[in-house]
Amino acid sequence: MEHDLVLEGRVVTPGGILDTEIGVTEGLVKEVRRGLRGAKRIRTEGSLIFPGFVDMHVHLREPGWERKEDFRTGSAAAVHGGVTTVADMPNNPTPTDSPEALEAKARLARKAQVDVRFHGGIPRERPEALAKILPGVVGYKLYLSETTGAARFPEGEMPRVFRLVADRAKPLSIHCEDQGVIDRAREKLKDDARMDSYADARPPEAETRAVAAVVECLRGAPSLRANVCHASTAGTLSMVKNAAAGGLALSCEAALHHLYFTRRSMLENSMLRTNPPLRGEEDRQALVRGLKDGSVSFLVTDHAPHLRDEKLSEGLAGVPGLDDFAHVVSWLIRSQGVDPLRIAQVASSNPAEHLGLKDRGEIAPGRRADLAVVDLRAHEVARGDEVRSKCGWSPYEGAEFPGRARWVLRGGELLMDDFEQIS
Ligand SMILES: [Zn+2]
Repeated sequence: MEHDLVLEGRVVTPGGILDTEIGVTEGLVKEVRRGLRGAKRIRTEGSLIFPGFVDMHVHLREPGWERKEDFRTGSAAAVHGGVTTVADMPNNPTPTDSPEALEAKARLARKAQVDVRFHGGIPRERPEALAKILPGVVGYKLYLSETTGAARFPEGEMPRVFRLVADRAKPLSIHCEDQGVIDRAREKLKDDARMDSYADARPPEAETRAVAAVVECLRGAPSLRANVCHASTAGTLSMVKNAAAGGLALSCEAALHHLYFTRRSMLENSMLRTNPPLRGEEDRQALVRGLKDGSVSFLVTDHAPHLRDEKLSEGLAGVPGLDDFAHVVSWLIRSQGVDPLRIAQVASSNPAEHLGLKDRGEIAPGRRADLAVVDLRAHEVARGDEVRSKCGWSPYEGAEFPGRARWVLRGGELLMDDFEQIS
């Protein structure tokens, strides 16, 4: 048969990296073998062809904070980074925890260039009402501390919420920082001007104590698939590992910025403030090791755009990341020694499976033709004026990366063609 499109090059498949061809017809991968015929042919030398990246932790800010980002600009940033599916978080000014809020958000998301899925919030007053939005969400999100747009969920309610979500068979993502530890650290900081106030107000123990509480609650809801958001410390990784070894369905994700930056970077650049904060070099290295040995299951951006002025004047927490996804992937491979097969797992197949998206996540006949071709020889210095995110800046400005996305396909449609983004 003649395909609509044939891509040839080094293809990252579950079985290994193959020098082969991908035949794309009617939006699907139809064949993976040599000797294919196609109406159009793309040769991708110097690159790796990944399944389109699936980022299960983004904040595209609509509705309510359109000045920071909207679904059109946020999804263009995703394409820039090779991300073809995102799962949006519920902490908007009106939380996404009711059928009305979810429907309004889904309508706004129709203008996105990539697939947008949704996490549901847990209704504070009546947690059992979470079932009302079940068909429209890929999972739920719970906040154990205060952070942008999210109030802390009452800790005493946790066991009940865990059982409620477990009954619905959807996964639960949890922002793990213990508010009690944070409040005590802040109190102590009042008398100590030498400490770096931001990082020290949210110490590693805030995270590990919250993770311990999650593990405890999970014993009462053992069928729940729970995920620790943006794990930032070595301690969290070993707790998650132990819980999983003990039969609990606990996983964790690592955010690009925690893999790339350290606490020192944040002291020099307050734009890098985020929750949980950047940690020391030992924790950063532990996260990279976790990517390699499987204790980290998901690679995410936690894309949290704020305007530059808001960051500087109000000290808001969160950094954007979608524009730089392929940048950081190329750096993980070339400079940190992460196997591209592991990248395909943590950035595509694992999140697709976790969110129940069975039609994507791997390059195989019958799957959607969602593809991210990363050119590992296309050196580039990241620049704020090149980002597609409406926030208009990047935490990586000035950093040199070994590679970047060169072709991006979503459902067979070319969204980036030889570095040129189409839109
Ligand atoms: Zn987040």
